[in-house]
Parts: sequence; structure tokens; C-alpha cells
Amino acid sequence: MGQVKCIGILTSGGDAPGMNAAIRAVTRSAIYNGLQVKGIYRGYKGLITDEIVEFKSQNVSNIIQLGGTILKTARSKEFLTPEGRQTAYETMKRHGIDALVVIGGDGSLTGARVFAQEFNIPCVGLPGTIDNDLYGTDTTIGYDTALNTILDAVDKIRDTATSHERLFFIEVMGRDAGFLALNGAIASGAEAAIIPEFSTEVDQLEEFIKSGFRKSKNSSIVIVAESELTGGAMHYAERVKNEYPEYDVRVSILGHLQRGGSPTAHDRILASRLGAAAIDAIMEDQRNVMIGIENDQIVYVPFSKAIKNDKPINKELVNVLRQLSI
Ligand code: ATP
Repeated sequence: MGQVKCIGILTSGGDAPGMNAAIRAVTRSAIYNGLQVKGIYRGYKGLITDEIVEFKSQNVSNIIQLGGTILKTARSKEFLTPEGRQTAYETMKRHGIDALVVIGGDGSLTGARVFAQEFNIPCVGLPGTIDNDLYGTDTTIGYDTALNTILDAVDKIRDTATSHERLFFIEVMGRDAGFLALNGAIASGAEAAIIPEFSTEVDQLEEFIKSGFRKSKNSSIVIVAESELTGGAMHYAERVKNEYPEYDVRVSILGHLQRGGSPTAHDRILASRLGAAAIDAIMEDQRNVMIGIENDQIVYVPFSKAIKNDKPINKELVNVLRQLSI
């Protein structure tokens, strides 16, 4: 193994439930393996502004059940510049940090990749995003919790939708990925999902209307993924008002409540496994990899693959939704 003695850990980009469980796992696993741990606050920003604290085992006590991230998170414009990254490197060296564990989404892992290449530092990433949009891992930390939050909300909306015989468009998060929308629709028994992956191929609203959705139902719920590609729930509600005025339409945008809450058992276990595996990877002298999970096995995915490739939607899920919403 290399000379790693001290790791720095940070959370970056959008927060996700389970990030705390991951911070705990990385910290405890590192200490277990004889490494020193430094917590870096506010993502890459804290690396530039020197917001770094030594973490002992007690620093991560009683956090596994908490949503959000105790390390806080931020988006750093400065880190996008070579000067910003140079300052970050100098701070890191001053604190004796010789490897980084970055928990975040696509952008955060891109930052880790650039930083690792520029300064030849071992960086390991953990997929922390509710969007589940990272290639090479079956799921990401926070996704399962967000999905369950969506179900809870949709179940409640269905009660009112049914009472009033309305058509509801419910907008969920996911950036440019439709995992939350599609699986949220299947799990909540919604009538359809409108997702960015198919937005350029077909008119998903037309398809839905043509499927004769109102024949045997007194309410309908369509889950729409937020995205410029879909146009969002408001866009579809406007269209229905103009093109099919016979329908009584309502919109609900779930928004930031999807990011909060105590992580599910699934996310806590995932975060714990991935966090421990991040330290295994560092001990094995792996660098510039994201730790993922595939078929319940830990995998190391090179940053280049995890970031560049689009994670494909499983078409079987689309068919299941279509068949079960008749
Ligand atoms: P989420 O998917 O939940 O929004 P994310 O990790 O994709 O999270 P971003 O805002 O895209 O969130 O990225 C977080 C931070 O990573 C940025 O503010 C920036 O500091 C850093 N970053 C992103 N892209 C780059 C890049 N090309 N070079 C250097 N740093 C980057």
C-alpha cells in the first residue's frame, strides 16, 4: 500500500439521506485500520477556506439515523478554477491529509477526478445522491429514502385525487434521470410516468391519453420527472388544460421534502457498506474510483466511467408500469 496515513472526508453538491451513515462508516473504518481522519466542512469550499476538524470515533456517534449531512455541503465555484484547487491542495497538505473520500453526485465526483489528476492524490468517491444517476452502481445513497418519501406523498395525494375524480401531475426530483419518477410510479400504483429518457422519442402525454386512462378509473396520477427535457408537471398540466379541457387537472410539486428525512434501513446499510469499502480501497492503493454496488457486490468503478456514461433506464420497468396501470 501507499503512504496514506490520514484521510479527509467531505460531502458535496446536493445533500442526500444516508450521507451521515456514510461519514460514520468511513470514519470508523479508517480509525479501525489505523488511519487518522479529518472532517472537511462545506465540501470543496471548506478545503479552500480551511474548515477542517480532526474526527474521532465519537464525532460520528448518534448520526446514522440523521438526514442531511453533519459536514454540511456546498457548491464551490472557486474549486472549478485551477487557482482554487491549488489553494485546496495546500490546505490539504497543511493538515497532513494524503487521501480524500468524497461523497456526492456526478459533479462532486468530476471535481474529485480533476483534483486527483492534477495533484496525484488518491481520491475515492461514494455515490451520494437521491437521483440514482451514477453509472456503474445499482443504487446510490439517498435514493431509497427519497423513493419512500415520494410514496408517502403520492399515497396521500391519491386520497384527495380519488375523492374529487381528478387528474394529478406530481413532479418529483431526479435532475435529468427518471429513476425516482418511474419507480415511484410503479410503487405508488400511478397510471404513468413521464421521464426525460423518453422525452425526445415520444410524446408521453399523448401516449398516456391514448391509452384510455379514464375508462375504468375515477382518478389518475401521473408522476413527472423534473427536467428541462420533460418540461415538468406544470407544462403537462397546461397542455391538458388546453388540449383536453374535459379533465379536472391539478399539480403537486414535491420539491425539497424529497431530500430530507431519516434514511431507510436500505440506505443506512448501503452507506455503511460503501463507506467501509472506501477505506478498503484506499488500503489496497486504489485511486480515482467510485465505490458502487452491483448485484449486491461491492465494485470499484473508475471515475471516468461513473461520470461519463449515462445510466440506462431498465425498459422492463416501463413495461411493468404500462401493464399494471390498465
Ligand atoms: P447532485 O447530483 O446531488 O446535485 P453533484 O455532486 O452533482 O450533486 P454539483 O453541484 O454538480 O453537485 O457539483 C458539486 C461541486 O463539485 C461543484 O460546486 C464544484 O465545486 C465541484 N465540481 C463540479 N464539476 C467540477 C469540475 N469539472 N471541476 C472541478 N470541480 C467540479
